[in-house]
Formats: sequence, C-alpha cells, structure tokens
Amino acid sequence: MAETAKVIECPCGAIIEGSDDGDVVAKAQQHAKSTHDMDLSDEQALSMARPA
Ligand SMILES: [Zn+2]
Repeated sequence: MAETAKVIECPCGAIIEGSDDGDVVAKAQQHAKSTHDMDLSDEQALSMARPA
C-alpha cells in the first residue's frame, strides 16, 4: 500500500509536511492553533494539501 505524502504551504510561508492526509491535516491544525491562534477544519486543511 503506497502512502501519499502531502505538503501544506501556509500563507505565512511555513511548509507543513505529513506522511499522509491525516498526518498533514493534524500538523496543519497544530500550526494554525499555535502560530495563528486559529482553528482549521479538516476540510480547510485538506483543501490546502498538495502532493509532496
Ligand atoms: Zn502559518
């Protein structure tokens, strides 16, 4: 089973990399919360995800 690594580029310039959709979404949500005090939904995070 091939895992698809994903990357999210935050508007602030941070690059968030994950080993799969769930991983990158979780990391993006952590980044949004800790850096921007913002709650990011799964859908919002997924919509920003690109294949790494
Ligand atoms: Zn950011």
